[in-house]
Amino acid sequence: MNIHEYQAKERFRAAGIPVPPGEVARTPEEAESLARKLGGKVVVKAQVHSGGRGKAGGVKLAGTPEEARQHASKILGMQIKGLTVDKVLITPAEDIGSEAYVGVLMDRKAQAPTFMVSSEGGVDIEEVAANRPEAIRKLTVDPRYGLLPHQALWLANALYDDPAITKQAAKVVGQLYRAFVDSGASMAEINPLITTTSGEVKAIDAKMSVDDSELFRRPEVAAMRDTSDEPAAETKARDAGLSFVKLDGDVGCCVNGAGLAMATMDLVKYYGGEPANFLDIGGSSNPDKVVAALEIITADPNVKVILFNIFGGITRCDDVANGIVTATKQIDIHLPIVIRLTGTNEEQALQILADAGFSAFTSMDEVVQKAVELAKA
Ligand code: GDP
Ligand code: MN
Repeated sequence: MNIHEYQAKERFRAAGIPVPPGEVARTPEEAESLARKLGGKVVVKAQVHSGGRGKAGGVKLAGTPEEARQHASKILGMQIKGLTVDKVLITPAEDIGSEAYVGVLMDRKAQAPTFMVSSEGGVDIEEVAANRPEAIRKLTVDPRYGLLPHQALWLANALYDDPAITKQAAKVVGQLYRAFVDSGASMAEINPLITTTSGEVKAIDAKMSVDDSELFRRPEVAAMRDTSDEPAAETKARDAGLSFVKLDGDVGCCVNGAGLAMATMDLVKYYGGEPANFLDIGGSSNPDKVVAALEIITADPNVKVILFNIFGGITRCDDVANGIVTATKQIDIHLPIVIRLTGTNEEQALQILADAGFSAFTSMDEVVQKAVELAKA
């Protein structure tokens, strides 16, 4: 789950990181009054789950409250990478001396949190990584000990020469690690970490992604979800208790069990097709779940065929078959549906499906080949 800059800043502040104050406005008038309250120059910043807002025109300096209102009226409603801006952060403008990059993410290869820092901040870090990898210092943290003080100093040393500033930055690096761990984050980033012209270190941008599996034990973080910035299908799937990941292909997959769902996607690829999604409907034959699954799959205009692959263990195939028949009566589907069911009560299930006019199979190879063929037709 991604959270907004203003929310990540709350987490960072709580960890002690020096972050300028700021409040969120939803209208130009609110932006103006917040700017007046702060006094002096402010920055108006689009709050969307996307980086590169500066380049897209979503970050603007305003000298007066009136100017803040004008910027806000342009930024609110603007599209950035396909996301509509409905909130702006109003925060005091800082006098920037230098911009650095400090980030930590869960590195799957190292299986541990890994820091990346660079004195070339403010810009796209992927660009620095691609063109000047020597400008990035990396460190993998042993989660048993956490980030040790000398490691934080070593990272900060890559950013600054002045020892007083390096010390401040090392403290921020340690606090960022705390915020990362305490939030159950998969990524936390400050870009840029600035030095002000008066020699203070401050985080003026904040980005954080939280691991969905960490949310159940962190309700205060879970409450930060903004569904308006998520693909509608993912919100709907979560609400219906389905695990869903949208992909780019045209074979809509509806499977019970994550392992079988993965195997189904592999087989679709093996026979020359492309899956449109990963979808695990779980162990239930509840028609409501099947309806939700079908609504999600058919809302994707790329989908040309719907493939059910069900293995009946404790879940009875005849229950699932009834679920599919009921569900397909409830919504109007204009796509071919192919179904494979095997396991407990499969004969009854195949009869139910055949009576309702579906092509039903017991072989996974056959049904996937059929689905790929129909998608290509
Ligand atoms: P991003 O483009 O989405 O990463 O948004 P940022 O918050 O990083 O802002 C982009 C750029 O705007 C920063 O790298 C700064 O150069 C500039 N910027 C942001 N806040 C301030 C500020 O308070 N003062 C000044 N002078 N520039 C700022
Ligand atoms: Mn940034």
